[in-house]
Amino acid sequence: MTFQELGLHEALLQAIATTGYTVPTSVQEQAIPAALAGADLMVSSHTGSGKTAAFTLPSLHRLIDRKPAPGAGPRVLVLTPTRELAQQVEKAVKTYARNLRYLNTACLVGGAPFFAQAKLLSRPVDVVVATPGRLIDHLNRRKLKLSDIEVLVLDEADRMLDMGFVEDIETIVAATPASRQTLLFSATLDGVVGNLARKMTRNPQRIEI
Ligand code: AMP
Repeated sequence: MTFQELGLHEALLQAIATTGYTVPTSVQEQAIPAALAGADLMVSSHTGSGKTAAFTLPSLHRLIDRKPAPGAGPRVLVLTPTRELAQQVEKAVKTYARNLRYLNTACLVGGAPFFAQAKLLSRPVDVVVATPGRLIDHLNRRKLKLSDIEVLVLDEADRMLDMGFVEDIETIVAATPASRQTLLFSATLDGVVGNLARKMTRNPQRIEI
């Protein structure tokens, strides 16, 4: 299969071409068409599988050609367990969004100055990548609203649970619209993380790599 066959916007295909990827990985081949069709996803896949592009590309596709209303909040939110992973995801978003005009991102993670992040949020932001704790700080201090979120991504959901973020995640999810699309990625979908996934998705398509 080729990236062209997945149904992605031309601007994204051009960005993919500059990365040197020739064919989609297995998780991309399965997750991208399903996400483009609007489905919620529960995906078991590991780091190195190409999962970042599997959720970033369909999320960006959704933002193209649809201008946000003035004063709108972010439309895509990616939650990750660690600062390092959040930074990697933001970098990937910027790479795939290189041909999109006016796409702004914010990376909200602990261990970085709060004020600089709050300043970023005072301007329109389309995509937020965050760790749960710091995102809650911004919500509590009214620096951010999640009422315009269209796509919520939970990346490495099992690790977020292991790190004790379950309550933060529940608070964050409750602040997003019920009409959102939810894409959950995890090394495993067994046990507690499977329960969380079922609670946070609607009629999810399950993909196991
Ligand atoms: P991830 O699993 O998202 O951490 O990605 C693992 C690595 O695979 C990253 O360095 C990506 O740049 C790379 N990658 C993602 N998709 C592809 C692809 N379709 N072909 C080749 N490399 C890829």
